[in-house]
Amino acid sequence: MTHVYHITKFPDLSSYLFFYGCNWDCEFCILKKSKYDIHAEKIETRRIRFLSTDEILKILKDNGINEVFLGGGEPTIDPSLIDLMELLKKNGIKINILTNGENLNEKIVYLADRIAFSIKTLDSKKNIDITGRDNKKSLENLEKLVNEKFSFETVYSEPIIGCQNAIEISEYISKFLKNPVLRIDMMIEVSPRFPRPDENDVDSCIKYINEKMNVRAFRIKSKEKRAVQVYP
Ligand code: SF4
Repeated sequence: MTHVYHITKFPDLSSYLFFYGCNWDCEFCILKKSKYDIHAEKIETRRIRFLSTDEILKILKDNGINEVFLGGGEPTIDPSLIDLMELLKKNGIKINILTNGENLNEKIVYLADRIAFSIKTLDSKKNIDITGRDNKKSLENLEKLVNEKFSFETVYSEPIIGCQNAIEISEYISKFLKNPVLRIDMMIEVSPRFPRPDENDVDSCIKYINEKMNVRAFRIKSKEKRAVQVYP
């Protein structure tokens, strides 16, 4: 049995698989607000039940899915992850994985088509403060495993993880790749310590990074609820 408990799909026939639980405990984690996809217009909830790899494949095939995003939650804490990735690969389904990187390994990097590596901050003490975990292992894994499959994600909320934080992350990732991609998400407020930032501040920070640094920074602007629930 995997730890996958929720699946949605998008109009381009890609799908998001939600893995239950995480080895980090970010104060601002959106899953503290809802365990289900916030990009779906309507969600019908039921008691949480984990799916087997075969059940997942059947759901994806029945829905004509050709690409998946493994996220949640943290997919790498699921002991069935490799089995699932092998099955998806065998069936020609493109695999994107979103991870905090602490458990990332060669096999996962090999099986994935794209890896979205999430860095909340480079500062170890701050990382412990906001996520409950040291980021040492995660950054060690990044330095050991990084290749052209990697892109990066962070989240923006002044004053604790604002523009200066995004600039430091940009400087860091540009040491490893030529022109790396950094997605900067505007915080959705879960905890009052991490408020929603002003859109204009985030956009000027993104502009600064794109102009001054060797990084392609962007944020997702669409507010449309495009996801459709396929499980449960
Ligand atoms: S690493 Fe991601 S999934 Fe895990 S607690 Fe933090 S925000 Fe949530």
